[in-house]
Amino acid sequence: DQPQRLAKVLACAGVASRRSCEELIFEGKVTVNGSVCNTPQTKVDPGRDVVYVNGSRLPKKLPPKVYLALNKPKGYICSSGEKETKSVLSLFSDFMERWDRKNDGISKPRLFTVGRLDVNTTGLIIVTNDGEFAHKLSHPSFNLSKEYIVTIDGEVNKRHLLKVSEGTIIEGVQCTPDVVELLPKQPDISRPRLRIVVHEGRHHEVREIVKHAGLQVYTLKRVRIGGFRLPSDLGIGKHAELTQGNLRALG
Ligand code: URA
Repeated sequence: DQPQRLAKVLACAGVASRRSCEELIFEGKVTVNGSVCNTPQTKVDPGRDVVYVNGSRLPKKLPPKVYLALNKPKGYICSSGEKETKSVLSLFSDFMERWDRKNDGISKPRLFTVGRLDVNTTGLIIVTNDGEFAHKLSHPSFNLSKEYIVTIDGEVNKRHLLKVSEGTIIEGVQCTPDVVELLPKQPDISRPRLRIVVHEGRHHEVREIVKHAGLQVYTLKRVRIGGFRLPSDLGIGKHAELTQGNLRALG
């Protein structure tokens, strides 16, 4: 094997996303050949060097990569979860049970989300054990477009729409939506709905843009990432395996 940077080796082995792997390394949780290694750039040979993370040996035989689309319910967080909060990862217990039955002896994949949705946001989120894939997809330079449907509490006028289209500054970066559209009224939905497409991926981006325009978010749902749309038949809290075609459409 070619030597590769330690953070990349951990991410490829499914430990976590690349950024979280770098944090583990900085925190002194990773040893290489018996010594703590604090530098993510250190070159290691996964076939020869002995790497431990949090006291566990990095397995030589890696679990296969898994790529899942989850329809996230409200009230779940995307990190692994402190007490009191439910994590989206808890929605994969059936998947893990099936994994054990199907993959006798291959350790369970360590799943994490690609980026995050706020606790009260619903809809499409990708879940994987491929840290490199997660890193690529969530990197700002990838400029992946994401589509949201926002239900608004209150009325929406032309001035509001103009303001939403102008965007706002988040963490020092101007975030301007690519698309803002007031959706036609539907008989069974009384609140106005906006379709908003963004590509920056800043924390609370859509909520901040809408708030800045003087509007109040009632619900927020992500319906598309890149060229992959949330399947309309995927129930809330359910997941589907992504095909090779879906993966190509994503990025
Ligand atoms: N923008 C938000 O404000 N929240 C999300 O969860 C995603 C995008």
